[in-house]
This record gives sequence, C-alpha cells and structure tokens, in this order.
Amino acid sequence: MQLTFTEMHAPTVGLAIQVDRQLYTEQSDFQRIDVFECEEFGRFLTLDGYMMLTERDEFIYHEMMVHVPLAVLGETVRKVLVIGGGDGGCVRELCRYPHIEHIDLVEIDERVVAVCREYLPTVACSLDDPRVHILYQDGLKYIRRIEDEYDLIIIDSTDPFGPGEGLFTMEFYGNCYKALRAHGVLVNQHESPFYKGDALACQRAHRNIVHSFELSRLFQAHIPTYPSGHWLFGFSSRGVHPVRDLKADDWNARGIETRYYNTNLHKGAFYLPNYVQRLLEKVEE
Ligand code: SAM
Repeated sequence: MQLTFTEMHAPTVGLAIQVDRQLYTEQSDFQRIDVFECEEFGRFLTLDGYMMLTERDEFIYHEMMVHVPLAVLGETVRKVLVIGGGDGGCVRELCRYPHIEHIDLVEIDERVVAVCREYLPTVACSLDDPRVHILYQDGLKYIRRIEDEYDLIIIDSTDPFGPGEGLFTMEFYGNCYKALRAHGVLVNQHESPFYKGDALACQRAHRNIVHSFELSRLFQAHIPTYPSGHWLFGFSSRGVHPVRDLKADDWNARGIETRYYNTNLHKGAFYLPNYVQRLLEKVEE
C-alpha cells in the first residue's frame, strides 16, 4: 500500500509526496506533530498537516531568515530573539556567527523541540549551544514585557491560525518594535503572494507591520515544498535599509559557506514582481 502525504494549497491544488515511512506522530497540547520520510525530500516535519520543513530544502528558508539581516547588521547583532522556530533551523544559522552572544528561542510547544532533536538532528543540531536559551512560552505574551532588548528578532512561526495567529497582529508587531534596540531589525516569515488565502494573509501581515515600523520591505525565495514555491519574508526596522545598508564585503569576508544565500541574491530578493508590489501597495496607504 502506498502512503501519500497531501497538503492542499488551494481548494483544488495541492502538494502530494509519496511517503516511505511515518517516523513519528503525536497530538501535543498545541498541534498535531508528524515526521515522515520520503525519497525526494528526506525527512519532513508537518504541524496540523501543514508542511513545516524538509531535510532537502530547509536550508533555503533558514539561510534567508538569518543571513539577510546579519549581512546588513553585522557585528552589531549581539542579542537575538527567535519566536517559533522550535525545529532549530534559524538557531543553527545564527550560531555560525561568533559575535552573537545570546539567543532566546521562545517556542510555545516543547514537544516540537523534542521531536526535532530526535528525528531532525541536522536541523536541531545547535540547540545545545551555550548561547541558546529556550523558553517554552507563547511569543505573543513574552514580547509584551520586553523593551529595548534585542538587536534582531526573527519570527519563525506557523501560519496565521492556531497558535501562530497572534504572531501576525498589529499588537504583536508593535510590541516587537518596542523590544528592538534603535538599530534593530525584525525579520518574519511573511507567507506567499500567489494563492488567494496566502495572499490575503500576506496583505494582512504587511498592513500590520507597515503601521508599526518606519521601514518595511519584503524579500523572496523559492521553496519547493511551500505553497506555489514563491515564499516571502519581511524585513522591518526604524530606518536600517536591507539593500542600501548591506555590508557585502564584510559578510563575504566571514567565509560562511551557504547553499542558497549570497550577497548578490540578497539584493535581487528585494526586487519583487509587479503583481506582488501591487498586492502590498493596496494595504500600504
Ligand atoms: N518554517 C515554518 C513555516 O514557515 O511555517 C515554521 C517552522 S517552526 C516549526 C514554527 C513554530 O512556531 C512551531 O514549532 C510552533 O509551535 C511555533 N509557534 C506557533 N505559535 C507560536 C507562539 N504563539 N509562540 C511561540 N511559538 C509559536
């Protein structure tokens, strides 16, 4: 019998992956957690039936979430907050920078961390770095009491429903603004512009962010296992610009080996298709 994982990306369109083995399944206090194994993508994690990451293409997402802000902020990044991200992928990329002194990982579901440690060790491999402090809390509540604390905040959340819903609100982004230091940057996973449901979620998030930050730009990457493959990320700050303030020579001098990110692609990622620009302009005024 052939087992197939299917995730619908639109009412009549979906992703189907022939599965060799289901390695794990659990209903945690927050969501259904599954780990599968397949020929094309290796092992992959789903939450409530939605694709979170695969061994084969997770490098694209995690490199873009981390190296884009680090190539702009450089050595000024000492203290980082990651909200969500219990798989450890963003933390792994952050730990490649010796100058980063402290990483708080605020993940609501400790079962996600435990499952990724066991079944996705290449992703969760840096969670025991002494600079990493895991707090099992709701990021929406955690951020309310933080002020002028972080140089970089990364929102690596699930989609805007279930436990992740609050991480796309004006209240949350306003509190992230307050929690950042003056030169700080917020990077968030910003959904996709293609299918109707994702495009609406993208517009709502953008509207809430532009009302909270002086500068907000979106950048893009191509992630095969995410809806449409065209994925967006947000870069927001009080004034730091993601392309004008890119320190390409400094970043390249670090000699960090990547498989997707480079400082030329960094610039290109911020030049969006016309239909995406129009989608965003609708909610910017
Ligand atoms: N890369 C994935 C994506 O783009 O969909 C996200 C991966 S990561 C597994 C998402 C994490 O966000 C999950 O572990 C989930 O438990 C966590 N999460 C969801 N809502 C949260 C909240 N309010 N506070 C903290 N963590 C949350």
